[in-house]
Amino acid sequence: MGDQSTLRQRHVDPSTPAAPAPSTKPTISNALLSWDAIDHWRRDNHYITGGYRIDKPSYHHTFLSLRHLHNESVNIWSHLLGAVIAVLSSTYLYTQIKPRYENANQQDVLVFGCFFTGAFLCLGMSATFHALLSHSQDHAKWGNKLDYMGIVLLIVGSYVPALYYGFFCEPLLIRYYLVLIFTLGTGCALVSWVDRFRTSAWRPYRTAMFIALGLSGIVPVAHGVTIFGYSGLDDRMSISLVILHGAMYIFGAVLYASRFPERMGPAGRFDIWGSSHQIFHLCVLLAAGTHLYGMGKAFDYHHTGLGSTCVLN
Ligand SMILES: [Zn+2]
Repeated sequence: MGDQSTLRQRHVDPSTPAAPAPSTKPTISNALLSWDAIDHWRRDNHYITGGYRIDKPSYHHTFLSLRHLHNESVNIWSHLLGAVIAVLSSTYLYTQIKPRYENANQQDVLVFGCFFTGAFLCLGMSATFHALLSHSQDHAKWGNKLDYMGIVLLIVGSYVPALYYGFFCEPLLIRYYLVLIFTLGTGCALVSWVDRFRTSAWRPYRTAMFIALGLSGIVPVAHGVTIFGYSGLDDRMSISLVILHGAMYIFGAVLYASRFPERMGPAGRFDIWGSSHQIFHLCVLLAAGTHLYGMGKAFDYHHTGLGSTCVLN
């Protein structure tokens, strides 16, 4: 009895600091939350009704969350593995492919380096963003900026080898189009990174700039067709594959924006597997792989066909 009264006395003693309010969130590290249980700043797609990690401002906690299954697992791992594959394949190409052609030079390495750097940064930053979504609001916002920057870098990095091989005999055009793409890319990076441009009032301009960046490839492709004809440009730049890779991005972006298939329900079916964002990620990987294959063909034509043979006017 005595002990109990002491305990009761201690409980009401005003000098004792108040005990923290009991958390309504589960404390098991791999427990998952429903849409209703997550904080407002984490809410993005209400068709994903569950599978949310517990948020905690800890890198260790974030890292541990990679080990169990939740609604960001596919998004994180798809692009994390993609980033690793980008590094491995660039190393392989550098050591195995380059020595096959005596006339391959530093410019080949440079233009492929631009593509691989863009791909690695895009996939790595995307995986980082998805991992940080359960860290804290500040980190999620910062990760979101990284995610957009990565998209810009991948698009710009993809243009460089296509322009180099496609317009090898028209160096002035390479310069013009590189200035165009770098200007658009810098603009998109600015509106993605600077808080002043990240407001809802700027949303239409941001969207318009990204669409302009993505569609700007139509201009050099159409221009190249008028110079070399479709098959001539296909030999030089693999435009069939360039167009296919663009179509994959557009297909993925349309699914992402329309939130299909999860919007068709039933609720919860696509929380862990098969959501629009995951399909979008796979489209990005397939598109990057297709572009690399296309640039490989352009490289082959450049060094074994007529791609590097320029007729003087
Ligand atoms: Zn993503």
